Amino acid sequence: LSNLFEPIQQLSQLFNQLQSSGAALQKLFELLDTDVDVAERPGAVDLPSEGEIEVRDVVFRYAPDGEDVLSGVNLTISPGERLALVGPTGAGKSTLAKLVARMYDPVEGTVSFGGVDLRDATLRSLRQRIVVVPQEGFLFHGTIRDNIRLVRPEATDADVVRALDALGLRERFEDLEDGLDTEVAERGSRLSAGEKQLVSLARAALIDPAVLVLDEATSSLDPGTEALVERALEVLMEGRTVIVIAHRLSTSERADRVGVVTEGTLRELGTHDELVAAGGHYAALYATWAGGLASTS
Ligand code: ADP
Repeated sequence: LSNLFEPIQQLSQLFNQLQSSGAALQKLFELLDTDVDVAERPGAVDLPSEGEIEVRDVVFRYAPDGEDVLSGVNLTISPGERLALVGPTGAGKSTLAKLVARMYDPVEGTVSFGGVDLRDATLRSLRQRIVVVPQEGFLFHGTIRDNIRLVRPEATDADVVRALDALGLRERFEDLEDGLDTEVAERGSRLSAGEKQLVSLARAALIDPAVLVLDEATSSLDPGTEALVERALEVLMEGRTVIVIAHRLSTSERADRVGVVTEGTLRELGTHDELVAAGGHYAALYATWAGGLASTS
């Protein structure tokens, strides 16, 4: 199970308390960043609207006296590129994704976007440029509309509808009995996993980030929404830099490049074809995946 969004889930309850005490939605953002242990420096600058992601000589560990979870990671991702991260559980894929989204700061080395070290960026611009879409949609108690507006509370109803339209999701939500005013319980217990994912995608579209960090679902969604999720995702990824933690062969095959993470290092990096031809880790993984597909079809 992925823990990419754990800190945010823990905030759900706190968020509900805040709401009832009338505090602004923006507070969540600040809380989120407090929770993930990053802070804005005095004199921080806004990130540019587009740019390369550069990971330089990154070392990371969660506890000061703990083991290195990542070490010696170097990676440049071009604007608009799709990079799939693959590798065994516990290898460090989610951690690398979290560093790119500045949910943590590296212990050594730097992560930058458009030439700006993420530690020098305003948190607001950071959360606008780089959006994480977790495996499981995070929802709080409130309407679907408010859930979509979560990190852009100033967005109008028209903005929300536009975002849904762009992803081909407008009807899906308007067809619910109360439409976008449908109340969802905490963690979205009244919505299916697929519907929760659709809310996450609509939220991301509304933010309109340059970079999407995705944690691909490991289990299949309800058949009614799976196709919608896939189509919405395709639209959302269009023209954006995408880093996807891939659990499926079809995802890594379609990516521009694949990064193989093992034991905290970026072991292989290249196109699917290059890595298959290289006969290393990815080639072995691919053979297993392809074999699995052959035996289930
Ligand atoms: P992957 O995404 O490849 O499965 P992760 O990045 O989740 O790998 O985990 C890499 C290593 O870091 C694992 O050993 C994991 O147990 C550890 N780890 C992940 N999250 C935390 C955390 N919040 N605190 C301490 N250790 C963690």
